[in-house]
Amino acid sequence: MIISKEKHIFVMDKENIPAARVNLPCRLTFETLDCFSEQIKTVDDTLECINFEQVNPATGPVYFEQVQPGDVLAIDINDIRVKSPGKMVAAPGAGVLGNLIEKSETLILPIENEKIQFKDLQLPLKPMIGVIGVAPAGEPLPCGVPNNHGGNIDTKLITAGTTLFLPVQVEGALLAIGDLHALMGDGEIMVSGVEVSGEVDVSVRKAEGLKINNPLLKTDQELIFFASAATLDEAVEMATKDMANFLTEKTDLSLNEAGMLMSACGNAQISQVVDPLKTARFSMPLEILSKLGVKLDF
Ligand code: CA
Ligand code: CA
Repeated sequence: MIISKEKHIFVMDKENIPAARVNLPCRLTFETLDCFSEQIKTVDDTLECINFEQVNPATGPVYFEQVQPGDVLAIDINDIRVKSPGKMVAAPGAGVLGNLIEKSETLILPIENEKIQFKDLQLPLKPMIGVIGVAPAGEPLPCGVPNNHGGNIDTKLITAGTTLFLPVQVEGALLAIGDLHALMGDGEIMVSGVEVSGEVDVSVRKAEGLKINNPLLKTDQELIFFASAATLDEAVEMATKDMANFLTEKTDLSLNEAGMLMSACGNAQISQVVDPLKTARFSMPLEILSKLGVKLDF
Protein backbone atom coordinates (compact mmCIF):
# COMPACT_ATOMS: atom_id res chain seq x y z
CA MET A 1 0.00 0.00 0.00
CA ILE A 2 1.24 3.49 -0.86
CA ILE A 3 0.72 6.33 1.61
CA SER A 4 0.60 9.47 -0.53
CA LYS A 5 2.62 12.53 0.45
CA GLU A 6 -0.62 14.50 0.11
CA LYS A 7 -1.56 12.85 3.41
CA HIS A 8 0.82 14.49 5.84
CA ILE A 9 0.81 15.96 9.31
CA PHE A 10 2.84 18.64 11.08
CA VAL A 11 2.06 17.46 14.59
CA MET A 12 2.19 13.92 16.01
CA ASP A 13 -1.09 13.70 17.88
CA LYS A 14 -3.22 10.80 19.12
CA GLU A 15 -6.25 12.69 17.72
CA ASN A 16 -4.92 12.73 14.13
CA ILE A 17 -7.19 11.08 11.58
CA PRO A 18 -5.38 8.06 10.09
CA ALA A 19 -4.28 8.25 6.46
CA ALA A 20 -4.78 4.46 6.36
CA ARG A 21 -5.74 1.57 8.66
CA VAL A 22 -3.87 -1.69 8.14
CA ASN A 23 -3.32 -5.08 9.74
CA LEU A 24 0.12 -6.29 10.78
CA PRO A 25 2.40 -7.53 9.41
CA CYS A 26 2.34 -5.27 6.37
CA ARG A 27 4.44 -3.64 3.70
CA LEU A 28 3.99 0.07 3.07
CA THR A 29 5.52 2.75 0.89
CA PHE A 30 5.54 6.27 2.32
CA GLU A 31 5.91 9.08 -0.22
CA THR A 32 7.47 12.02 1.59
CA LEU A 33 7.78 15.77 1.06
CA ASP A 34 11.09 17.37 1.95
CA CYS A 35 11.31 19.15 5.31
CA PHE A 36 10.37 22.48 3.68
CA SER A 37 7.20 21.00 2.12
CA GLU A 38 8.93 21.62 -1.25
CA GLN A 39 8.73 25.40 -0.77
CA ILE A 40 12.37 25.86 -1.88
CA LYS A 41 12.52 25.89 -5.67
CA THR A 42 15.62 28.01 -6.41
CA VAL A 43 18.68 29.39 -4.60
CA ASP A 44 16.72 32.64 -4.12
CA ASP A 45 14.34 30.85 -1.75
CA THR A 46 16.20 31.41 1.51
CA LEU A 47 14.97 30.35 4.95
CA GLU A 48 13.29 33.76 5.47
CA CYS A 49 10.99 33.11 2.49
CA ILE A 50 9.59 29.94 3.98
CA ASN A 51 6.25 29.54 5.73
CA PHE A 52 7.33 27.83 8.94
CA GLU A 53 3.87 26.42 9.54
CA GLN A 54 4.70 24.04 6.71
CA VAL A 55 8.08 22.88 7.94
CA ASN A 56 8.72 19.22 8.88
CA PRO A 57 5.75 17.41 7.32
CA ALA A 58 5.51 13.68 8.01
CA THR A 59 3.45 11.37 5.80
CA GLY A 60 0.69 9.45 7.55
CA PRO A 61 -0.28 8.64 10.17
CA VAL A 62 -0.93 4.93 9.68
CA TYR A 63 -3.15 3.16 12.20
CA PHE A 64 -2.27 -0.49 12.86
CA GLU A 65 -5.18 -2.70 13.91
CA GLN A 66 -4.85 -4.49 17.25
CA VAL A 67 -1.79 -2.52 18.31
CA GLN A 68 -1.90 -1.22 21.87
CA PRO A 69 0.15 1.03 24.14
CA GLY A 70 3.05 -1.05 25.51
CA ASP A 71 3.53 -2.91 22.21
CA VAL A 72 6.66 -2.29 20.20
CA LEU A 73 6.56 -1.69 16.44
CA ALA A 74 9.40 -3.21 14.42
CA ILE A 75 9.92 -1.23 11.23
CA ASP A 76 12.23 -2.83 8.67
CA ILE A 77 13.44 -0.08 6.36
CA ASN A 78 13.71 -1.86 3.03
CA ASP A 79 14.52 0.98 0.64
CA ILE A 80 14.80 4.76 0.53
CA ARG A 81 14.53 6.40 -2.89
CA VAL A 82 15.51 10.03 -3.38
CA LYS A 83 13.11 11.86 -5.71
CA SER A 84 14.39 15.44 -5.83
CA PRO A 85 17.57 17.49 -5.87
CA GLY A 86 19.01 18.18 -2.44
CA LYS A 87 18.35 21.45 -0.64
CA MET A 88 20.53 22.97 2.06
CA VAL A 89 20.24 26.28 3.88
CA ALA A 90 22.40 28.55 5.99
CA ALA A 91 20.74 31.34 8.00
CA PRO A 92 21.76 33.76 10.75
CA GLY A 93 20.98 32.22 14.13
CA ALA A 94 20.37 28.75 12.71
CA GLY A 95 22.44 25.86 14.03
CA VAL A 96 25.79 25.59 15.77
CA LEU A 97 27.43 28.24 13.56
CA GLY A 98 24.35 30.48 13.66
CA ASN A 99 26.02 33.30 15.60
CA LEU A 100 28.70 33.62 12.90
CA ILE A 101 26.41 33.57 9.89
CA GLU A 102 25.77 37.00 8.37
CA LYS A 103 23.54 36.22 5.42
CA SER A 104 21.11 33.56 4.39
CA GLU A 105 21.99 31.25 1.56
CA THR A 106 20.37 28.28 -0.13
CA LEU A 107 22.07 25.55 -2.13
CA ILE A 108 20.34 23.27 -4.60
CA LEU A 109 22.38 20.09 -5.01
CA PRO A 110 21.83 17.96 -8.13
CA ILE A 111 21.75 14.23 -7.40
CA GLU A 112 22.70 11.77 -10.15
CA ASN A 113 24.26 8.31 -10.36
CA GLU A 114 24.41 7.90 -6.58
CA LYS A 115 26.36 11.17 -6.25
CA ILE A 116 25.42 14.52 -4.76
CA GLN A 117 26.96 17.51 -6.53
CA PHE A 118 28.05 20.00 -3.83
CA LYS A 119 29.60 22.85 -5.83
CA ASP A 120 32.64 21.12 -7.41
CA LEU A 121 32.61 18.19 -4.99
CA GLN A 122 30.89 14.88 -5.50
CA LEU A 123 29.52 13.50 -2.25
CA PRO A 124 28.21 9.95 -1.72
CA LEU A 125 24.45 9.41 -1.66
CA LYS A 126 23.54 7.91 1.75
CA PRO A 127 19.77 8.29 2.12
CA MET A 128 18.36 8.34 5.66
CA ILE A 129 15.15 9.16 7.50
CA GLY A 130 15.04 12.29 9.70
CA VAL A 131 11.49 12.01 11.06
CA ILE A 132 9.92 8.68 12.00
CA GLY A 133 7.60 8.34 14.94
CA VAL A 134 4.36 7.27 16.53
CA ALA A 135 1.83 9.50 18.27
CA PRO A 136 2.78 10.46 21.83
CA ALA A 137 0.42 9.50 24.65
CA GLY A 138 0.43 12.98 26.14
CA GLU A 139 0.43 16.41 24.55
CA PRO A 140 0.76 16.54 20.75
CA LEU A 141 4.33 17.15 19.55
CA PRO A 142 5.32 19.00 16.36
CA CYS A 143 7.04 16.67 13.86
CA GLY A 144 10.21 18.73 14.38
CA VAL A 145 10.56 17.46 17.96
CA PRO A 146 12.39 14.22 18.80
CA ASN A 147 11.42 12.28 21.93
CA ASN A 148 10.66 8.80 23.20
CA HIS A 149 8.03 8.40 20.46
CA GLY A 150 10.71 8.87 17.80
CA GLY A 151 9.89 11.96 15.75
CA ASN A 152 12.72 14.16 14.49
CA ILE A 153 15.55 11.90 15.66
CA ASP A 154 17.75 12.96 12.70
CA THR A 155 20.19 10.06 12.87
CA LYS A 156 22.38 9.18 9.91
CA LEU A 157 22.16 5.47 10.77
CA ILE A 158 18.41 5.19 10.02
CA THR A 159 18.97 3.85 6.51
CA ALA A 160 17.79 1.02 4.28
CA GLY A 161 18.69 -2.36 5.75
CA THR A 162 18.13 -1.35 9.37
CA THR A 163 15.23 -2.07 11.72
CA LEU A 164 13.82 0.65 13.97
CA PHE A 165 11.84 -0.31 17.07
CA LEU A 166 9.39 2.26 18.45
CA PRO A 167 7.45 1.96 21.73
CA VAL A 168 3.73 2.31 20.99
CA GLN A 169 2.01 4.92 23.14
CA VAL A 170 -1.53 5.07 21.75
CA GLU A 171 -3.96 2.60 20.21
CA GLY A 172 -3.04 1.94 16.58
CA ALA A 173 0.42 3.53 17.05
CA LEU A 174 -0.16 6.18 14.30
CA LEU A 175 3.16 5.92 12.46
CA ALA A 176 4.35 8.82 10.31
CA ILE A 177 7.55 9.29 8.28
CA GLY A 178 9.19 12.33 6.64
CA ASP A 179 12.28 14.53 6.39
CA LEU A 180 14.51 12.37 4.22
CA HIS A 181 18.15 13.36 3.80
CA ALA A 182 20.34 12.31 0.87
CA LEU A 183 23.28 12.77 3.23
CA MET A 184 23.78 14.08 6.76
CA GLY A 185 26.64 14.09 9.22
CA ASP A 186 26.36 13.49 12.97
CA GLY A 187 25.04 16.63 14.62
CA GLU A 188 23.28 18.11 11.57
CA ILE A 189 25.05 21.28 12.65
CA MET A 190 23.45 23.71 10.17
CA VAL A 191 19.88 22.43 10.89
CA SER A 192 19.55 21.05 7.36
CA GLY A 193 20.98 17.85 6.00
CA VAL A 194 20.81 17.38 2.22
CA GLU A 195 17.02 17.70 2.32
CA VAL A 196 15.06 15.69 -0.27
CA SER A 197 11.63 14.40 -1.19
CA GLY A 198 11.40 10.67 -1.71
CA GLU A 199 9.87 7.31 -0.98
CA VAL A 200 10.44 4.84 1.84
CA ASP A 201 9.54 1.14 1.66
CA VAL A 202 8.99 -0.45 5.05
CA SER A 203 7.77 -3.75 6.48
CA VAL A 204 6.02 -3.31 9.81
CA ARG A 205 5.31 -5.95 12.43
CA LYS A 206 4.87 -6.24 16.17
CA ALA A 207 8.16 -6.96 17.95
CA GLU A 208 8.00 -9.98 20.26
CA GLY A 209 9.67 -10.13 23.65
CA LEU A 210 10.95 -6.56 23.62
CA LYS A 211 10.07 -3.81 26.09
CA ILE A 212 11.57 -0.39 25.42
CA ASN A 213 10.88 3.18 26.51
CA ASN A 214 12.83 4.87 23.72
CA PRO A 215 13.58 4.20 20.05
CA LEU A 216 16.01 1.35 19.36
CA LEU A 217 17.81 0.63 16.07
CA LYS A 218 19.37 -2.58 14.83
CA THR A 219 21.86 -2.27 11.99
CA ASP A 220 23.93 -5.10 10.51
CA GLN A 221 26.71 -4.11 12.93
CA GLU A 222 25.19 -2.63 16.07
CA LEU A 223 22.29 -2.32 18.48
CA ILE A 224 21.64 1.34 19.29
CA PHE A 225 19.50 3.05 21.92
CA PHE A 226 18.40 6.65 21.25
CA ALA A 227 17.46 9.32 23.76
CA SER A 228 16.39 12.93 23.33
CA ALA A 229 16.63 15.56 26.07
CA ALA A 230 17.12 19.27 26.68
CA THR A 231 20.89 18.78 26.84
CA LEU A 232 23.26 16.32 25.20
CA ASP A 233 24.58 15.34 28.65
CA GLU A 234 21.12 14.20 29.72
CA ALA A 235 20.50 12.46 26.39
CA VAL A 236 23.80 10.55 26.63
CA GLU A 237 22.96 9.50 30.18
CA MET A 238 19.49 8.26 29.20
CA ALA A 239 20.72 6.25 26.21
CA THR A 240 23.57 4.79 28.27
CA LYS A 241 21.20 3.74 31.07
CA ASP A 242 18.83 2.12 28.55
CA MET A 243 21.71 0.03 27.17
CA ALA A 244 22.89 -0.90 30.68
CA ASN A 245 19.34 -1.99 31.62
CA PHE A 246 19.07 -4.00 28.44
CA LEU A 247 22.36 -5.81 29.15
CA THR A 248 21.57 -6.58 32.79
CA GLU A 249 18.11 -7.89 31.81
CA LYS A 250 19.25 -10.01 28.87
CA THR A 251 22.50 -11.39 30.35
CA ASP A 252 23.85 -12.39 33.75
CA LEU A 253 26.16 -9.37 33.83
CA SER A 254 25.90 -7.17 36.91
CA LEU A 255 25.43 -3.44 36.43
CA ASN A 256 29.12 -2.89 37.17
CA GLU A 257 30.15 -5.51 34.62
CA ALA A 258 27.71 -4.26 31.99
CA GLY A 259 29.00 -0.72 32.52
CA MET A 260 32.62 -1.77 32.22
CA LEU A 261 31.89 -3.74 29.05
CA MET A 262 30.04 -0.73 27.61
CA SER A 263 32.96 1.49 28.56
CA ALA A 264 35.33 -0.91 26.81
CA CYS A 265 33.52 -1.48 23.53
CA GLY A 266 30.30 0.56 23.37
CA ASN A 267 30.00 4.03 21.88
CA ALA A 268 28.14 7.10 23.13
CA GLN A 269 27.55 9.29 20.07
CA ILE A 270 25.75 12.41 18.91
CA SER A 271 22.80 12.15 16.52
CA GLN A 272 21.76 15.79 16.32
CA VAL A 273 22.33 19.00 18.27
CA VAL A 274 19.94 21.41 16.50
CA ASP A 275 16.39 20.26 17.22
CA PRO A 276 14.21 21.41 20.18
CA LEU A 277 15.59 18.43 22.13
CA LYS A 278 19.08 17.02 21.42
CA THR A 279 19.45 13.37 20.43
CA ALA A 280 22.26 11.08 21.51
CA ARG A 281 22.71 7.34 21.14
CA PHE A 282 24.55 4.45 22.71
CA SER A 283 25.63 1.52 20.55
CA MET A 284 27.02 -1.94 21.21
CA PRO A 285 28.49 -4.22 18.53
CA LEU A 286 26.18 -7.12 17.60
CA GLU A 287 29.23 -9.36 17.69
CA ILE A 288 29.67 -8.73 21.44
CA LEU A 289 25.96 -9.18 22.13
CA SER A 290 26.03 -12.45 20.22
CA LYS A 291 29.02 -13.68 22.27
CA LEU A 292 27.04 -12.84 25.40
CA GLY A 293 24.23 -15.04 24.14
CA VAL A 294 21.74 -12.18 23.75
CA LYS A 295 18.91 -13.21 21.42
CA LEU A 296 18.07 -10.42 19.00
CA ASP A 297 15.16 -12.13 17.25
CA PHE A 298 12.53 -9.67 18.49
CA1 CA B 1 15.11 16.84 10.88
CA1 CA C 1 15.87 17.69 7.72
